[in-house]
Amino acid sequence: MIYKTFQDMRLSALGLGAMRLPVTDGEYAVIDEAETGRMVAYAMEHGINYYDTAWGYHDGCSEVVLGKALSRYPRESFFLADKFPGYDLSNMDKAEMIFEEQLKRCGVEYFDFYLFHNVCEMNIDAYLDKKYGIFEYLMRQKQSGRIHHLGFSAHGSYGVMKRFLEAYGEQMEFCQIQLNYLDWSFQDAEKKAELLEEYQIPVWVMEPLRGGKLAALSREDTKRLKQLRADEETPAWAFRFLQSIPSVTVTLSGMSNLKQLQDNIRTFETERPLDRQEFDTLMEIADGMVKKSILPCTGCRYCTSHCPQQLDIPSLLSLYNEHRFTEGGFIAPMVLMAVSEEKRPDACIGCRSCEAVCPQQIKISEAMSDFNRRLRA
Ligand code: SF4
Ligand code: SF4
Repeated sequence: MIYKTFQDMRLSALGLGAMRLPVTDGEYAVIDEAETGRMVAYAMEHGINYYDTAWGYHDGCSEVVLGKALSRYPRESFFLADKFPGYDLSNMDKAEMIFEEQLKRCGVEYFDFYLFHNVCEMNIDAYLDKKYGIFEYLMRQKQSGRIHHLGFSAHGSYGVMKRFLEAYGEQMEFCQIQLNYLDWSFQDAEKKAELLEEYQIPVWVMEPLRGGKLAALSREDTKRLKQLRADEETPAWAFRFLQSIPSVTVTLSGMSNLKQLQDNIRTFETERPLDRQEFDTLMEIADGMVKKSILPCTGCRYCTSHCPQQLDIPSLLSLYNEHRFTEGGFIAPMVLMAVSEEKRPDACIGCRSCEAVCPQQIKISEAMSDFNRRLRA
């Protein structure tokens, strides 16, 4: 196992994310405890010392089952991370109750790492609102030793991350973002990583395989990669990409069975960062994957002044692209919750005034209507 230095600690470069644990009868909330126990045992034996859970994973059962599996080991032999569930605004005034319950669920006296979960458009105002005092409460837990290291995770835009960092950046010790070779440009991950570097905040990675999208590529792309490294399997390329980014410290992978865990551990036995040609090839592959399924909006904004509904068309198309490419997911619905109702895609009246001026000839009205359909599905 490769280890990374974080302050005075050695963290395994691969962390076990407990959001997709094996389940029984296909029920998300019914975790297979025996299999999870075997996975944690294997992970511990093979050097993984970082374990990540959250209030909402497996409808609250992840904290309990992971805590139980880890209770077989000395407390100082692993690092446990948990998160404040601010992705649900109704939790904002319950920081103390939730934190106490999390310690109980996990069966621990302290968390090594604790995060503001998913800083994004929908919750940034509440996270910064002194009325709720989340930051102040968490800082008090840190002072009393019940949180050792405080950080945040973010699915929000670059602008949202910047706002959060301007407020709390000095106290944030780490940040978890969605980072992989596909999102390097598609979701501005490169810019976000640069922003964190300005604050000297190391990066924790989530979704290294983009929900499995990077675990298998087209035959043509696979062949291109095999020509560069005959012995590297397709999923390993995603990890080699991350090994090429110096600020990446822990890479979290939500593993659902022993085989995935074994494969990932094998990849993290060696550090084989990409050379320039390999990096560029991955970027070309990512570009090709994205271009195949998204609308080519360049953000020129010629259309916006022609919209009688004053919709922010390029922003909505960017969300549409994300939603279509991901084949659903929570990001677009989450961002749209922060957009006023009269500016959402269903406010489009289909007049097509925008299309007359779009240099990319995008069928914007069709896209808005398809977006609505997908959001309601
Ligand atoms: S078709 Fe929709 S997005 Fe385009 S100008 Fe008309 S209302 Fe605006
Ligand atoms: S005019 Fe076309 S390319 Fe330009 S921002 Fe509008 S939709 Fe995008």
